[in-house]
Amino acid sequence: MAAAGRRIVIENCSIATVDAQDTEYATGYVVIAGNRVESLGAGKAPGGLENVVRRIDATGHLVTPGLVNTHHHFYQWITRGLATDHNLFDWLVALYPTWARIDEQMVRAAAQGSLAMMARGGVTTAMDHHYVYPQGSGDLSGAIIGAARDMGVRFTLARGSMDRSEKDGGLPPDFAVETLEGALAGTEETVERHHDASFDAMTQVAVAPCSPFSISTELLRQGGELARRLGVRMHTHGSETVEEEKFCHELFGMGPTDYFESTGWLGEDVWMAHCVHMNDSDIAAFARTKTGVAHCPSSNARLAAGIARVPDMLAAGVPVGLGVDGTASNESGELHTELRNALLINRLGAHREAALNARQALRLGTYGGAQVLGRAAEIGSLEPGKLADLVLWKLDTLAHASIADPVTALVFGAAAPVTASFVGGRQIVADGRLLTADEDAIARSTRDEARRLARITAQA
Ligand SMILES: [Zn+2]
Repeated sequence: MAAAGRRIVIENCSIATVDAQDTEYATGYVVIAGNRVESLGAGKAPGGLENVVRRIDATGHLVTPGLVNTHHHFYQWITRGLATDHNLFDWLVALYPTWARIDEQMVRAAAQGSLAMMARGGVTTAMDHHYVYPQGSGDLSGAIIGAARDMGVRFTLARGSMDRSEKDGGLPPDFAVETLEGALAGTEETVERHHDASFDAMTQVAVAPCSPFSISTELLRQGGELARRLGVRMHTHGSETVEEEKFCHELFGMGPTDYFESTGWLGEDVWMAHCVHMNDSDIAAFARTKTGVAHCPSSNARLAAGIARVPDMLAAGVPVGLGVDGTASNESGELHTELRNALLINRLGAHREAALNARQALRLGTYGGAQVLGRAAEIGSLEPGKLADLVLWKLDTLAHASIADPVTALVFGAAAPVTASFVGGRQIVADGRLLTADEDAIARSTRDEARRLARITAQA
């Protein structure tokens, strides 16, 4: 199984494998061969290894699987800091007119900004739910996928869409949506052009109509049928706010989960963002069908959406991963801080101090995310034969050195510096800086594109 080839040996580190037994090593080693993890364990690496091109003394570090982000909207990188005191529906209505004026150059820059911010904080698999495709705006999917490829981050594009505008009782303005036919054709074309089903895939595509209040029932139903015909995963937003729940009852005569079930949108090939307002029977339906959840604690707090019932979902056997969500509702754009936020916010809910522990939080951000993206066989834990997507967290500085245990330090402590991050055995971060992109150039281009978008919107 393990690919032959150049070996990298990482030694003298703590390791949290996040395997099924939560195996940890206080001092151990990891051997990377080609793009796979070849071996790992306690103590020193085995002697006699051939073709070792690099040895890393990782004293003072914790090694974990790379973080997996399961929900994001990259384009929002250039609309951060707007409508900061709004709930979801008011925030959307405030921002749609700006979002509907994005073009390919803006989307490329925003994707670079979003990817760079996550990658330098230990994300090795990213996703982008992109659902705004203004007419004549260029090849937006191609721009996003190109940005991820250039950054060297493993990536799922959830090709989104909207076709229910104000005139049909939806939330987006009429000029911001596609037609049903256009959305389905654009989605199929993106899957055909970019989806890679292989074990080592760097790019996958999912079918992802946006949300019940911005898509027609027909787009939801036919989108699901398209995904299953093409053999790709399905993603959307669900049960995010009380306003959405009310909207579904008024328009469809049922709550969001029943609506999704009635349109074929529960299943092991589906994952849904947020799932804040779920009753016991909703959670049971997700568990029965193995429908996944992208938990986005900071965004839910920013938009005052509520606290998702993550402990109940985990107890029922629902696959749960973490999501940054778009940076218009989570300006930080970081995933490693979401481990901490997930833990703290869930402790404010019904289960109090028993809600989540540090190991569970780390699992949400790694293996849970891999499950939700349908890639648990390849990534999400450190095991021989899996892809070498892993992070070296530096825990021997002022911020963490006195914290009793490395996993606790990573989750409870300050955002930990990343000494190295590998994707498929290729190093993309060194000492907190990206090796695959120029952060300062991205900072300038995203600021320029944000200003250009604001100017165009003001003139419209
Ligand atoms: Zn979202």
